[in-house]
Amino acid sequence: MTTTTPRTVLVTGGNRGIGYAIAEEFIREGHRVAVTARSGEGPAGSLTVAADVTDSASVDAAFTRIEAELGPVEVLVANAGITRDTLLMRMSDEDFTDVVDTNLGGAFRVVKRAATGMIRKRFGRIVLISSVVGLYGSPGQVNYAASKAGLVGMARSLTRELGARGITANVVAPGFIQTDMTDALPEDTQKQYLSTIPAARFATPDEVARVVRWVAGDEAGYISGAVIPVDGGLGMGH
Ligand code: NDP
Repeated sequence: MTTTTPRTVLVTGGNRGIGYAIAEEFIREGHRVAVTARSGEGPAGSLTVAADVTDSASVDAAFTRIEAELGPVEVLVANAGITRDTLLMRMSDEDFTDVVDTNLGGAFRVVKRAATGMIRKRFGRIVLISSVVGLYGSPGQVNYAASKAGLVGMARSLTRELGARGITANVVAPGFIQTDMTDALPEDTQKQYLSTIPAARFATPDEVARVVRWVAGDEAGYISGAVIPVDGGLGMGH
């Protein structure tokens, strides 16, 4: 039987959906868990701190509070994300920059802030929540797919820059997971997605959460710069 070292974990966007399930999973395993979001609360047993990942000062204030209450962040899950789907010809500059600034810029801000403590401790686990569409592509998601593909380059650069300091950086790339984000898609689009997934079903947030917990755990210390799909086979080969 393996033992698990209790860690201080931060999950951004942990008030609902995949982030909420990830926070629950770490709590179940006995870790100290903080959650950030703009609104709402994380699961019972977590410390919720309001923060907007597009604002460095807000991120810094959240980290300062988490460090004071739970200690330096050892496991960072950059999960907060948005979509503004529309075809390229209708996509405004704002649709593009909002999505990139939240999904990619937000990850950059929290990673940078967390790295200070991780480098000092010579330990860290960074998990970036990307998407199958980051490498597979998706019509109507030029902004979103670009932001999610950017996370792969980020994780791999972090791996090269920080790997010798006991820090790993990995990407988890979910496929179609049932949350508010996907509930918002028209029924026809959902049916179309379903027909292309080898597993012939959508996944629950828990199925992503378990993989995130594992790659951040003691057993996965030699995995870094990896892109781990949780997509029922949708993106294989990409
Ligand atoms: P939801 O739409 O259910 O939740 C999004 C989360 O991100 C919320 O907690 C939200 O907080 C937070 N968030 C958004 N913008 C900001 C911001 N500026 N600052 C702080 N927090 C913010 O999404 P999911 O749970 O479905 O998705 C979670 C992640 O997984 C996202 O990165 C998404 O791209 C990715 N993903 C999801 C898939 C799916 O099928 N659902 C598939 C592949 C990837 P608040 O409520 O306060 O706005």
